Amino acid sequence: MSLPLAMKNLFSSLTGRFILGALAINLTLMPLFLFGINHAVERALQTSFIDRVRLDAHFFAETVAQSRDPALIREMLDDAMMSGRYVRAVLVETSPEQEETRKVETFQEDFFFGQGGDQIYHIAVPLPLNEDFESNFVLQLGYDETPVNEQIQEITRLCLYLAGIFLFLTLLASVIFGVRIMHPLRELRNTARAIASGGYDRALDVDTGISEIASLAGDFETMRRELVRHNKELEYQSLHDALTGLPNRVLLQDRLRQAIHTAQREDRPLALFMIDLDGFKSINDTLGHHYGDLLLQQVASRIKGVLRKSDTIARFGGDEFCILLPTITDARHATDIAGKIATTLEQPFFFEDQPYQVGLSIGIALYPEHGADSGVLMRHADVAMYIAKQNNLDYTIYDASQDQNNICRLSLMWDLRKAIENGDLHLDYQPIVDLHDGRIDAVEALVRWDHPQRGLVMPEEFIALAEQTNLIKPLTIWILTEAVHQCADWQGRGYDFRVAVNLSPRNLHEHDHPRQLMDIIEREAIDPAGLTLELTERAIISEPKGTRKILDAFHAMGVNLALDDFGTGYSSLGTLKKLPLSAIKIDKSFVMDLNEHKDSLTLVRAIIDLAHNLGLQVIAEGVASREIMHRLKSLGCDQAQGYFIARPLSPAGLECWLRDEDKGKTAQD
Ligand code: C2E
Ligand code: MG
Ligand code: MG
Repeated sequence: MSLPLAMKNLFSSLTGRFILGALAINLTLMPLFLFGINHAVERALQTSFIDRVRLDAHFFAETVAQSRDPALIREMLDDAMMSGRYVRAVLVETSPEQEETRKVETFQEDFFFGQGGDQIYHIAVPLPLNEDFESNFVLQLGYDETPVNEQIQEITRLCLYLAGIFLFLTLLASVIFGVRIMHPLRELRNTARAIASGGYDRALDVDTGISEIASLAGDFETMRRELVRHNKELEYQSLHDALTGLPNRVLLQDRLRQAIHTAQREDRPLALFMIDLDGFKSINDTLGHHYGDLLLQQVASRIKGVLRKSDTIARFGGDEFCILLPTITDARHATDIAGKIATTLEQPFFFEDQPYQVGLSIGIALYPEHGADSGVLMRHADVAMYIAKQNNLDYTIYDASQDQNNICRLSLMWDLRKAIENGDLHLDYQPIVDLHDGRIDAVEALVRWDHPQRGLVMPEEFIALAEQTNLIKPLTIWILTEAVHQCADWQGRGYDFRVAVNLSPRNLHEHDHPRQLMDIIEREAIDPAGLTLELTERAIISEPKGTRKILDAFHAMGVNLALDDFGTGYSSLGTLKKLPLSAIKIDKSFVMDLNEHKDSLTLVRAIIDLAHNLGLQVIAEGVASREIMHRLKSLGCDQAQGYFIARPLSPAGLECWLRDEDKGKTAQD
């Protein structure tokens, strides 16, 4: 590391600042302190020197004065100088006429130490000889100041040594102290960095005697533990289903990948089950979500009871579960377990003392037979599950020969879900005309799907698929909303034809659903008599009791009900009589070959008579030619719908068609 960089690091680190701060304080205060001490000692030495020499001068003067002879005194002074006691020792006679008087005048007594800069301290002391002589005598003494100056220098040097030692000790102490602070702080910093980068599993172990840092470290450790706990909670939540506590899709996928690795290494199979409950929706809708949730929890715990600890059961949302069996021996073993799961759900569930039954469909995919990676295995288990559902089986093992078709269907279903969300659908309307006066009586709303890749997709390709899944619900909501809105628009603009909308059997069998449909009709505030709902025979036959109630409710609203595709199902006369229907629609398969096949003619005639006897209107669909229309009219059929009259049209196209007089006349012919 270069010196400037090292200096920069030192300046920016806490230890560095601590040391530099201590140095700065000491370097500022130390000279003041030393100067003060030095000055005090210097003054003390000088004062004591002056006191001493003054006392000595007076004492010496007293001593030499006793001889009372100036010559002798001068000799004594010479001796004293010779002995080095004085630098100067002179006896001066102060009479004006004597030469020495001049010397007295030039002699300057010192008032302070070091005066004159000659290193001599001068003192003049009068000698008490006056009584014997006419003149006054003064003793002039000079003391050497050098020893005191040397002493002062010695002390200054000592002070400087002490200052050096003090500074060194201060530096040492601040380094030690700084390091002692820095070590735990660095530990805290490292922990903070580790936490920031997600590594908070290591406990914080800070050994420090500094209470503030110890308490900071304590807070840090509490925070770290909280984070660990919080993180574990989040991790658990992100990997588990909140309702059942089972692993979710993410965790299952992870375990599946690991299980595939192990199975590959140990060269043994594993199985993946995709499970979908049958009948869950109706329990959820009938009893409410609370019991729906309870049911899912109980289903989960029953299935768990059949599995081993090493198996994983996961919930994929809704009524879908997935099971990973990492230790099966063969396909037989897997189907045995599937059978056990099906059996365990055969026992009814009790809510509010009422027994409720749910069925299930299990799709089984085996590794390595049906896929070598998790994605393929899951897709194949899914396909197998749909096949089990379609065929009303408890479980099915994936079969590649059945798959191609199903993959297409699954992807179409996926696209349809998006189409409903994105509104990639539209409705065409096909006129239904009155055969008595040729006037338009109604239009039938027929859904079309504008698929981004496949182009226009007709309902026959996707309605059945939507009916097999839950998609029929949002699809019908979209269709009815759109058709009722269009109906309100036409009613508002004075058109008096009705709008017919097709409902699927499942639309009547889902608990909440009819209510939702009624809400849509009520929301648009249309005249309900302007709306017809077309139901197929299947809708009525499969659950006659429940359907009856719902149809009565629609009827009570004032909505017309028509039975679609009549002749293809097996509805009994008795059933028809009980239902609040206003019309039946003869299926186009009988109408289209009316003039070619005698059987069709007989059947159509019978249907028309029968319907009229029950007080129902008869509509013939699939009227593809003028001849057929004439024949239907002669048979007494009330209304007709078909390509000969008009193909399904967009709302704007229909309005054009209506304006066209010729088309109207065609109908009247
Ligand atoms: P559907 O309700 O019986 O509707 C009549 C079908 O016959 C329509 O076919 C119509 O275009 C067709 N059609 C009418 N006249 C003729 C004709 O002269 N010749 C021929 N060859 N066909 C004629 P589309 O639109 O393909 O619908 C087929 C079926 O799909 C409908 O039969 C209905 O069961 C279902 N569907 C259509 N739209 C909806 C809808 O919005 N909801 C539901 N649930 N089902 C719908
Ligand atoms: Mg129809
Ligand atoms: Mg029909």
